[in-house]
Amino acid sequence: MSTPAPLARRFHGIEPTIFSAMSALALRTGSVNLGQGFPDTDGPASVLERARTAIDEGRNQYAPGIGVPELREAVARHQARHHGIDLDPATEVVVTTGATEGIACALLGLVDPGDEVVLLEPAYDSYDAMLQAVGAVRRPVTLRAPDHRLDVEALRAAVHDGTRLILLNTPHNPTGTVLTPEELAVVAELAIAHDVLVVTDEVYEHLVYDGRRHVPIATLPGMAERTLTLSSLGKSWSLTGWKVGWATGPAALVGAVLAAKQWTTFTSGSPLQPAAAHALDHESDFPTRLAVDLQRRRDLLCAGLADAGLTPHVPEGTYFTLTDVAHLGWPDGAAFCAALPERAGVVAVPMQGFYADPATGRHLVRWAFCKDEPVVVDGLRRLAAAELRA
Ligand code: PMP
Ligand code: GLN
Repeated sequence: MSTPAPLARRFHGIEPTIFSAMSALALRTGSVNLGQGFPDTDGPASVLERARTAIDEGRNQYAPGIGVPELREAVARHQARHHGIDLDPATEVVVTTGATEGIACALLGLVDPGDEVVLLEPAYDSYDAMLQAVGAVRRPVTLRAPDHRLDVEALRAAVHDGTRLILLNTPHNPTGTVLTPEELAVVAELAIAHDVLVVTDEVYEHLVYDGRRHVPIATLPGMAERTLTLSSLGKSWSLTGWKVGWATGPAALVGAVLAAKQWTTFTSGSPLQPAAAHALDHESDFPTRLAVDLQRRRDLLCAGLADAGLTPHVPEGTYFTLTDVAHLGWPDGAAFCAALPERAGVVAVPMQGFYADPATGRHLVRWAFCKDEPVVVDGLRRLAAAELRA
């Protein structure tokens, strides 16, 4: 009898996350890491200090599974202050170990095997892995190059009475698209007409550029009661390694997340929660300043990529810009990214794994501009000096 393959079928065919692979490649080759989205500079000193004092105060044992009251209250105040969303922190907020756990627990708690889930693609890689793990039937709606806008007709064709859930992400990783109120209104109209839940990943909610505003779909008429909103501290407060996130919405949807969370992590790290509350309440303008600074780095990176012959798609939000490498003679972005460390000493991320049909995104490569300005400049200098044609 042959030994059974150890990996459960629910993860068959799912590649190890590209972000870890590309960061390891950057370390191994001494390359400038314009791949994985994390900043070089940490968030506010007062938040770091609050975490230290929380440890000293003895906040080191299990927090309540739903999260410490001060963070749930701070999340409720954040949603009210920025978005006019009214939440009961006792039942409508749950703290998660990053938005990643929010995504996993939302799908575990809300989706049964065979349920149809409509999602935008390119799709952040954990969506695909978790949708497969829970046995969902995936119905991707492609944000098509070159403008990567929502194809409203494709969305209308995808959503029907049998759809369980629409999984949104705005501002969108990796295209940088910020869904407009008009686009969101179509999503809302379909969700209401077909009685569909919406899970929306808004981790880049504060990182929008050129005077744009992020509109949470939960603020549209008729949507609060069917929307679970996910966000986290990582991007907006430059603390990606803390893995503090939250899910908000009606008690029944938050309860579904908690039902899954209690059997995954049970509870999230105790001392980081008061520190996250401090960030939301007392460093509430940090993300706005960060966005101003990021816009400058976006423009720097896009200009440099254009000079290097890599025409960038200028993003409306997030940390990332996409380029099409086909016109440099690379039909395959993965091959381009594999050659890039040796050719230029730079790492970027190929996008084909973010599409249901890899051919759709085969020519696309993602670059991160959340790195310190000298790092972006160094990366661009290396690209300018390299032969990038196939
Ligand atoms: N969703 C998107 C779209 C992301 O880009 C990321 C990466 N931060 C996450 C979720 C995960 O967030 P966290 O680090 O808070 O788990
Ligand atoms: N969200 C970041 C990115 O898209 C980091 C992803 C991760 O580390 N899982 O690059």
